Amino acid sequence: MAGFEYPSRCQVPTLSPCAAVLLDFGTEEQKRTHIPAMLRGAEIWMQFLSEPSGGSDVAGAVTTAVRDGDDWVLNGAKIWTTGAWYSDWALCLARTNWDVPKHRGLTVFILPIHQPGIEVHQIEMLNGAREFCQEFLTDVRVPDSDRIGEVDGGWTVGTRWMSHERLLAESPYVTVPAKPAISDRSPVEIACRAGTVDEPGVRDLIGEDRMLDIVGSALQRRLGTGMASGRIPEQSAAIGRLFRGIAESRRATIEFEVAGDAVWDEEFGDAGDVFLMRQVSCIGGGTTEMARNVISERVLGMPREARSDHNVPFREVPRGGRRSS
Ligand SMILES: Cc1cc2nc3c(=O)[nH]c(=O)nc-3n(C[C@H](O)[C@H](O)[C@H](O)COP(=O)(O)OP(=O)(O)OC[C@H]3O[C@@H](n4cnc5c(N)ncnc54)[C@H](O)[C@@H]3O)c2cc1C
Repeated sequence: MAGFEYPSRCQVPTLSPCAAVLLDFGTEEQKRTHIPAMLRGAEIWMQFLSEPSGGSDVAGAVTTAVRDGDDWVLNGAKIWTTGAWYSDWALCLARTNWDVPKHRGLTVFILPIHQPGIEVHQIEMLNGAREFCQEFLTDVRVPDSDRIGEVDGGWTVGTRWMSHERLLAESPYVTVPAKPAISDRSPVEIACRAGTVDEPGVRDLIGEDRMLDIVGSALQRRLGTGMASGRIPEQSAAIGRLFRGIAESRRATIEFEVAGDAVWDEEFGDAGDVFLMRQVSCIGGGTTEMARNVISERVLGMPREARSDHNVPFREVPRGGRRSS
């Protein structure tokens, strides 16, 4: 995609992380069936990860898959799936074993989103957007040939899946078109059009925005090459995720401050909306708090937080005051 304009929804999450996960863990047949369709734009993919019981604890998924002959039968609910209503296929994490600790009883499947047994509801947000969806899965049959990776090996697939998501710009498979140095959303452009460029502090804000851009790109590159060579652990993708979350939120604030009172004028497009939604970058793809946990525990080797679900069969882990039957 380098050098081309592209609809971002064809890239994220279809090509990265979904196609990347298929390339890493899919069978030859799965790759031959889906990768060309993804590249043609004939299949748009989404991620069925988060559940109503909480998205941070991905390994605590309670959507269940039970083996039935050559099929698996899935029941449960997923939520916050961006764009599920217009998408074709999903990568779905489900629980296949309740009698082992939570990370060891998960399996990843692929499934068509629009089929009997899957209800897709669009969630209307405060700003009127209806992009996010919740899906209810009732007795959805998935052939074993649509399983990705080993049975109960879903956490191995899942950790790679999440690191592809967090390292988008340095994905080993997907190129990202270079951003123009000056776009109509850059603070320089906004300050010139709003007439604030000579106001005190505005040049500092412009400099800060540029610094965040340069540091962010350098950090992603360093993480990408370090992980590819095995010099730094895969979990280090959380460092890039943390920086991106904080930087995007700060850059939305900078745009807002540079535009001043003019921010709500139509000519500034969505700068005001972006400011109101700035915390999104600290939540989507796993929150920045969770990234801090991963960095401290998995990258820096600091002591792990006390966990009541450690080495306990998932069935015995209390959830919402109850244990599963
Ligand atoms: C723009 C966007 C797009 C998204 N797209 C998708 C998608 O396509 N598919 C999908 O499956 N999901 C998607 N999500 C959902 C996203 O992955 C979840 O919102 C996120 O993982 C957090 O889960 P939650 O909202 O359930 O919050 P919770 O997990 O309930 O967390 C609530 C708060 O508690 C904090 N917290 C929880 N546990 C800990 C802990 N152990 N230590 C410290 N703090 C903790 C969290 O950081 C958060 O602040 C998207 C979200 C956004 C914003």
